[in-house]
Amino acid sequence: MSHEYEQVEVPADGEHITVDENDELVVPDNPVIPIIHGDGIGTDVGPAAQAVLNAAAEATGREINWMRVYAGEAARERYDENLPDDTVEALKEFRVSIKGPLTTPVGAGFRSLNVALRKKLDLYANVRPTYHLDGVPSPVTAPEKMDMVNFRENTEDVYAGIEFEAGTDEVQQVKEFVEEEMGFDSTIHDGPVGIGIKPITEFGTKRLVRRAIEYAIANDRDSVTLVHKGNIMKFTEGAFRDWGYELAEEEFAEETITEDELWDEYDGEAPDDVVVVKDRIADNMLQQLLTRTEQYDVLAMPNLNGDYLSDAAGAQIGGLGIAPGANLGEGRVLAEPVHGSAPKYAGQDKVNPSAMILSGRLMLEQLGWHDAAELVRDAVEAQISSKRVTYDIERQVEGGEKLATSEFADEIVERIHDLA
Ligand code: NAP
Repeated sequence: MSHEYEQVEVPADGEHITVDENDELVVPDNPVIPIIHGDGIGTDVGPAAQAVLNAAAEATGREINWMRVYAGEAARERYDENLPDDTVEALKEFRVSIKGPLTTPVGAGFRSLNVALRKKLDLYANVRPTYHLDGVPSPVTAPEKMDMVNFRENTEDVYAGIEFEAGTDEVQQVKEFVEEEMGFDSTIHDGPVGIGIKPITEFGTKRLVRRAIEYAIANDRDSVTLVHKGNIMKFTEGAFRDWGYELAEEEFAEETITEDELWDEYDGEAPDDVVVVKDRIADNMLQQLLTRTEQYDVLAMPNLNGDYLSDAAGAQIGGLGIAPGANLGEGRVLAEPVHGSAPKYAGQDKVNPSAMILSGRLMLEQLGWHDAAELVRDAVEAQISSKRVTYDIERQVEGGEKLATSEFADEIVERIHDLA
């Protein structure tokens, strides 16, 4: 039974994606898929991605029934609120959806809608595959060495949003509690102070690391690296590392080994069918991304580390115009590009839609439509290799020709027709 939608319509011809008893998606050939175009450049990249995904679905004998829903600016115009019930309910009911970027004011105003959505839908894993497509310019000499999948925890750490503003009674109470009642020898300077609390739980850590290890096993990946700052934050980041290893041992004893075991028992050569679980301190990991790129595969990280790491990794394979992502919960997927709403380019039919299109590719993979997903990848790669590209790539390649967002997407659609 459908939710009663106030201002949006459920496409009549589409069917629901459902889940089986293990929360695995059950996907018809004609699913209803909600889409939020988003703020700023979302109005440019959203329709571009829809056109490409339609072409890939049709070329493989399927049909996407889009259900347009609203958040951010477009929702304020229609509903006078940022995140209407219609939207949240549609994403819940239809299980798999895609969104463009949403603007978040800095310092004041409303909290991030992206964070709110991930929380409301309990989308606890933010997944960002980082791989190089031929022809994409990169600041490093061997971008093809990068082939990582980042699993970033999405619900706690700094995303828990427990913060106390300078000058309020609350922050004073927290300071007094820490210094006087808890008896910490505090180093908080006198004067105005803002205080944040960073929770990392065993539950949150283990479900994220479980997802990363399951992915590594299913996709024949060599390693899962836990990235933390446990040398300084022992009881949060250090606990993330410890719980991560504990989970691997408890639930994947047959399929995983630790790095110590790799050297003690296998002389550094892992057997083909095991995943090596290792850990790195976050600052070291940031340099290893550059210096030992090929030694890393799947990364599992608390929220803030994951934010920094995935943008840095994204830069190595061509930047934000390219980098895709998806948020995963139990039986639920919300794909979205890594980039934001880039307001200065909004509505100019100028920016690169590849990140949104490749987020769609990730969504197709989650549907189990691997043939359609590969078509999208191949068509985007061929288009970029042709050097008929959007401004961000054109300015970096010799002999490139600058296309509008819509022209670039139209040519990708043509390529899908040719490849199919
Ligand atoms: P941004 O919107 O990602 O844009 C930063 C720069 O990245 C742009 O000026 C542009 O660089 C490049 N870029 C981003 N998307 C591109 C694309 N599709 N094609 C080509 N180049 C692209 O980051 P921001 O300016 O920090 O954030 C703007 C707003 O977006 C903020 O309100 C922020 O909170 C929000 N945001 C939302 C999400 C989300 O919805 N998930 C994520 C991040 C940020 P050049 O000008 O150098 O070409």
